[in-house]
Amino acid sequence: MRAITTVPPGGGVKLSQVNIESKNGLKIKTYRTGICGTDKEIAAGRLAFVRPELGSSLILGHEAVGIVTESDENSGFKEGDIVVPMVRRPGKCRMCRLGRQDFCEDGDFVEAGIRGKNGFMRDEFVEDPRFLVKVNDPSILDIAVLTEPMKNVMKMKEIFQFMRMRIPWYCDDSTLSCKNLYVFGTGTEGLLISTVFKSLGINVVEVNRHPLGENVMDYLDSNKIDYLDTSSETLGRKVKDQPMDAAIDAVGAMDVLKEITDNIRNNGIAIMFGTSGQLPSSTYEVLENIVDRNVVVVGSVDGAKAHYAEAIRFMETQGKAMQMERIITGKYEPEDLKIFSEKEKLEIKKVIAWS
Ligand SMILES: [Zn+2]
Repeated sequence: MRAITTVPPGGGVKLSQVNIESKNGLKIKTYRTGICGTDKEIAAGRLAFVRPELGSSLILGHEAVGIVTESDENSGFKEGDIVVPMVRRPGKCRMCRLGRQDFCEDGDFVEAGIRGKNGFMRDEFVEDPRFLVKVNDPSILDIAVLTEPMKNVMKMKEIFQFMRMRIPWYCDDSTLSCKNLYVFGTGTEGLLISTVFKSLGINVVEVNRHPLGENVMDYLDSNKIDYLDTSSETLGRKVKDQPMDAAIDAVGAMDVLKEITDNIRNNGIAIMFGTSGQLPSSTYEVLENIVDRNVVVVGSVDGAKAHYAEAIRFMETQGKAMQMERIITGKYEPEDLKIFSEKEKLEIKKVIAWS
């Protein structure tokens, strides 16, 4: 069968005839595979983590939709079913065993078309039914190839919902209609993010550094998604009219984190997703470590009355057992002003006794 292969880490792509021993599983005829930035980076030999499953070459492709051509009755799938294969396959850590390999704790997973597992850019593949997701409505067959990049957005949405529930972040009418989300990146991922978040009722502004293509503008217009071309209007100017309540980065450009933190409002929510791979190494490492390790970057200052009460309850119930009195290492009179400038050895907390 035909397959698009690359030879990591050098990259390059070629269409080859491959013969792969079929393992146990369902036979799937590939219907569509998507190409994304990751594929391009792999092809350019710019991603160090790319590795073959066997031998020296890797079949590319992690965005796919296909049709089951051979099944067995116990699999839950039948011939003709439309299916989307999952990309990441679990390793042995606890999160992987729980089916949350997206939160893998040790990196011991493989990813089809990327690391350690052949991808879907080929005529057909054999698949373990546990890693297939069925498409019920055949009318979405042609767009179902977007499932893979869109599942990333659904996870972002879940994270966003958790983050906003910290406080009554909604508007006075209980909706999100007074809130503005800035989405950095007008590629597929950026547009999917805008689409999904727009459906939550939040105002979305797509941000791009260059004028947008007409097709993109049409898409955004028809979905009532606003956009900003920062080559003609600065972000700082735009947020004066439409404050940045939340931001999602799907680019990973050099200064995007700074652009977001410079402009986001108090209590903002920022979700990082992009790692373009073409950054200065320290910036790339920071972003990669945040993104690939699912690290939550969140600001926090002060506490609410409920937190005061909780602190009191804690001390009431556990303070003695935990010898919390040892934290106070000095008691001073109000006159002992030197305590403001001097530090004792073994000092932890000094207190002034007023009575
Ligand atoms: Zn794992």
